Amino acid sequence: MTVTDVKLVSMKEMLKEAKQAKYAIGQFNINGLQWTKAILLAAEEENSPVIVAASDRLVDYLGGFQTIVGMVEGLMRDLSITVPVALHLDHGASVARCQSAIEAGFSSVMIDGSSFSLKENIRMTNDVVSYAMKRGVSVEAEVGSVGGMEDGMIGNIVYANPLDCHRLVQETNVDALAAALGSVHGPYQGEPKLGFEEMKDISERTDIPLVLHGGSGIPVEQIQRAISLGHAKINVNTECLLAWNQAIRSKLKEDADIYDPQTILTPGTEAIKSVVKMKMREFGSSQRIR
Ligand code: 13P
Repeated sequence: MTVTDVKLVSMKEMLKEAKQAKYAIGQFNINGLQWTKAILLAAEEENSPVIVAASDRLVDYLGGFQTIVGMVEGLMRDLSITVPVALHLDHGASVARCQSAIEAGFSSVMIDGSSFSLKENIRMTNDVVSYAMKRGVSVEAEVGSVGGMEDGMIGNIVYANPLDCHRLVQETNVDALAAALGSVHGPYQGEPKLGFEEMKDISERTDIPLVLHGGSGIPVEQIQRAISLGHAKINVNTECLLAWNQAIRSKLKEDADIYDPQTILTPGTEAIKSVVKMKMREFGSSQRIR
């Protein structure tokens, strides 16, 4: 079957459904065309909705907002992708950046005002929501601070305050909330310690789909507990990066004379695809499309 009319969808409905049925949808960050292809093919094979994300700090490296939209939509057509795909801006740095992404055709954005005061975070989030809502685009906001590398800066973990989360959700019309609760971007030093007490509190107070950033390297029992406590979206990047690296390094090691990019890079694409498929099964989003 050839898909000629592709349409990126907002995260709103997919997250609502996931939260209700207690599973989570994976957000997988892209680092180029082969990356995007691997994620889309994995989603189609798993019959799973998927969130393809471009991190704001990588948008220029990837060619720009329009290039990203063109690439994702083009691949969806050429690969005959039929599962729901949201194209999301991860860690949008400003209201203007979110608007540019939406203008280019992104179907979802995150406005990350978490390093500002709560009042300013709410103001920025509201500005993005009022622009996005009219265009059917979903919005994610963040409270607290995910550890590790966030927005190109190394930061400490700052647990989200449940009262702040409640206030932001009450005063904005966001579709999803990233409440930082001990997760980190990048590899963990030792066992991750997620704040499950706070998670329960925030989930009960806000009753909104929660987003778990730093989803790589979290043991599956903790992932499943987070899902049972209201997480409907889990972001994964580092595990794909590590699998891609390992596959390419071993290919180059195995044959020091190869120079053809397709031969070198294809094992990397396959490795990403395996990680994405495994995550979709762990998160429970596989075989959800009827
Ligand atoms: P990891 O790189 O730790 O998987 O986190 C991804 C993420 O949260 C992107 O926003």
